[in-house]
Amino acid sequence: MTDYLVRIISKQGNVRGLACVTTGLVSEICQRHGTLPTATAALGRALTAGTLMGALLKTGQRVALRYEGNGPLKKILVEADSNGSVRGYVGDPHVHELRPDGKLDVAGALGRAGFLTVAKDLGLKEPYRGTVQLHSSEIAQDLALYLVESEQIPSAVGLAEFIELDGTVAAAGGFMIQAVPPVDPEVVEELMARIEWMPPLSELLHAKKSPEEILELLFAGTPYDILEKRELAFACSCSRERIERVLISMGKKELASLHEEQHGAEVTCEYCGEHYAFDESDLDRLIAEVK
Ligand code: ZN
Repeated sequence: MTDYLVRIISKQGNVRGLACVTTGLVSEICQRHGTLPTATAALGRALTAGTLMGALLKTGQRVALRYEGNGPLKKILVEADSNGSVRGYVGDPHVHELRPDGKLDVAGALGRAGFLTVAKDLGLKEPYRGTVQLHSSEIAQDLALYLVESEQIPSAVGLAEFIELDGTVAAAGGFMIQAVPPVDPEVVEELMARIEWMPPLSELLHAKKSPEEILELLFAGTPYDILEKRELAFACSCSRERIERVLISMGKKELASLHEEQHGAEVTCEYCGEHYAFDESDLDRLIAEVK
């Protein structure tokens, strides 16, 4: 099944809901970075969070999520756009922290103390930026807290994954529910109660429940309209041309020293792990292009 997201709104117009399955893209991105299971869970949740945030943007807009903590994972960076493209990486992919009960310790890996920063490129001069302290460091609650505190939108976020013993991602996905202003506190309470009652999201995903089925459970008893269904996929905006422009911007002196000391340059894209190699003649050409 390909990854996709469904966005709905209640018939009364006071609650919006999103749900997505991201198994394919989480799997691909984690494979590219060679993440160990706890790092896979953390990055997977953040990637799903990115796709949910991206689905609330207008065409051409972008969002970046930066989770930074005092744990061994150090940080999680995710970028998503309004077309359903997402990419991301973690500070240290080889983190595998376990809780005493044997479950993956995402909060311990990221660290209990830290910040979540959300930056949105809305096509304005300056990006919109909001920061909150990490709340649970389990990724989903931290995003919900950001939405409530920084954007003043009462929201519930669920992010989950099911990772096999061999480390492969069997299922990943998530949901987001938001009260639409003017906020009706009763509606918010009702939704929160329904989330409490629902089976764990990881179980639903592992049972191959679709985004539509997850939304049906969340909105049971609340009539709604489906607004959109969109495909989600991993995509990185890096290219050889872009890397060349970065190298050129380093200046003649830097490029000449790469030429003399290393006889070339190798650049790896942090987001996708793609390697770009430049030999001596490439560097000569780039040096000639420095203004
Ligand atoms: Zn890349």
